[in-house]
Amino acid sequence: MSLFKKDKQEDWFLPEDVRKQLTETFQALKEPVHLELFAQPGVNDEFSDYTAKFGADLARLTDKITFKRFDIPSDRAAELGVTASPTLCLNPDDFHIRFLGAPLGEEGKSFITSIMLVSLRMNGLSEASLSLLDPLDEERLVQVFVSPSCPYCPGQVMHAVKTAIARPGQVKAECVEMNENRELTEKHNIGSVPHTIFDSGAHDALGLMPEERFVVEMVYLKSAEELLDEGKLPGVEGLQTATGYGTIEPGAVDLVIIGAGPAGLTAGIYAVRAGLKAVVLEKSIVGGQVSLTPVVENYPGFTNVPGKQLMDIMSEHARQYVPVHEGEGVESITVGDPARDEPIVITTARGEYPAKAVILATGASYRKLGIPGEETYFGRGVNYCASCDGYLYKGKSVAIIGGGNTALTDALHLKNLGVNVTIVHRRDEFRAQKSLADSVEREGIPVLWNTVVESIEGDGRKATSLKLRNVKDDAQTELPLDGVFMAIGQKAATELAKSMGVKLNADGYVEAGPDMRTSVPRVYVAGDLTGGLQQIVTAIGEGSVAAMSAFEDISHPYWKE
Ligand code: NAP
Repeated sequence: MSLFKKDKQEDWFLPEDVRKQLTETFQALKEPVHLELFAQPGVNDEFSDYTAKFGADLARLTDKITFKRFDIPSDRAAELGVTASPTLCLNPDDFHIRFLGAPLGEEGKSFITSIMLVSLRMNGLSEASLSLLDPLDEERLVQVFVSPSCPYCPGQVMHAVKTAIARPGQVKAECVEMNENRELTEKHNIGSVPHTIFDSGAHDALGLMPEERFVVEMVYLKSAEELLDEGKLPGVEGLQTATGYGTIEPGAVDLVIIGAGPAGLTAGIYAVRAGLKAVVLEKSIVGGQVSLTPVVENYPGFTNVPGKQLMDIMSEHARQYVPVHEGEGVESITVGDPARDEPIVITTARGEYPAKAVILATGASYRKLGIPGEETYFGRGVNYCASCDGYLYKGKSVAIIGGGNTALTDALHLKNLGVNVTIVHRRDEFRAQKSLADSVEREGIPVLWNTVVESIEGDGRKATSLKLRNVKDDAQTELPLDGVFMAIGQKAATELAKSMGVKLNADGYVEAGPDMRTSVPRVYVAGDLTGGLQQIVTAIGEGSVAAMSAFEDISHPYWKE
């Protein structure tokens, strides 16, 4: 009997393709999963309704999932101590795993993964994490503040969920959607996501952490750096773990690709299709800078696609060929003598990968302005990722610094979210594409031309204004605001390249020929590291060329001729 022939779409909340995919995923469920939704009429009704429909649909897709709705207040809510509306609990009699706010957008993924792990009674933690968890002998409450469009958030939520499964009754994991939990968000002064609060503020951490670091900080309620300084935890620094599916153990490979943005993923596809044994190592999550781009409008075949969605499609494709290890940063590389066929050894926290060739696709990271207040108020009003943190500023005022494609794309995205946005640019014309400049004008987004930021001022807790200077007449002004987004370009991540003695050009990018070979034999480069146009399409082109050059050289080493 087919579920999809019998039922009409109007009976369902989830679209048919999503239901099909979930039905397949749920084939693997083992133990029953009990979803309990708590909602208070009049509070976040729209989100409670969404969650109720979502939960009811999941229960219709498999008999392994049950769904019940309770009011706040009610006996059951009092019994579990649930007060936030909506709150979705997974098997609340066995675990403390709660989603405060609808599991929308990116959090849909961590919610479904949580269902799978709860059903399989599997915590999914690495061996290293489990041994680091050993000393925990007290209860912990872990609250991960998230937004629906933050690509880093589900990773951090899963760390919390996994530890809650590993230590039921001891670790309480809560994923807190900040917009639907304004009071809690304000209380903890959350200014960027993911932001993790341990034991109601005993310790907190910004951003997505490697799993082992998360565990250590949760156990000791201190940063890994503090613990290292105290000499309590030798060897914790830089601990990384591979997550995700399709991973391999460290060992000899033909090719290591460092970086899982568009360049690295494409190189992986081409290398494996050419017959090379390859692996992609990524210190953070797949997708690179594109994952943080609200909308991409110049990738052929997609007129308008969120950057994260595009990279999800691309990584799904790449993983069909090549293992992609997220959360596995490269610690060092030693280049053996190619004339004697000595390998290039890539070392990570998990082990060594002796390889015949390496492709550097480490991309670029945000540039900072380096002005007073920028560090102090980072995550407390100073932001670098509009798609992650834009939601926090709905109905509030922010400035965007910069006049490039990123600044204008972010400004349009924020305006669209209902944020009052002003662009601050140091010149009198934009660097960005004309189509973006036209959209900014059409949307009536104010621009302060010829203006630089001298400092970010605040009240000690959060940023409250910018001190500005007009470069033409030196006039100084103050712009009151709730937040500021930096969009002043990228800094190429050349550290590994430099450590291998790879030649850089005068602009600080890796020098490469059209074949993507660098000055060091068997080392290739692709993507933003090469400078130039820095577009997704160029990164992809370079990734394919680098992989084919590596393949050619492994078969016919030019340095031996
Ligand atoms: P970008 O193109 O380098 O632009 C950086 C902007 O920040 C420029 O307007 C620059 O001003 C300004 N700036 C730099 N340093 C500054 C400072 N110290 N103080 C004040 N302003 C400063 O960087 P991006 O916009 O992040 O883009 C990076 C690359 O990604 C580009 O190749 C871009 O085309 C690409 N990208 C493309 C898209 C798209 O095609 N949809 C979207 C995003 C990014 P000046 O103009 O005065 O130099």
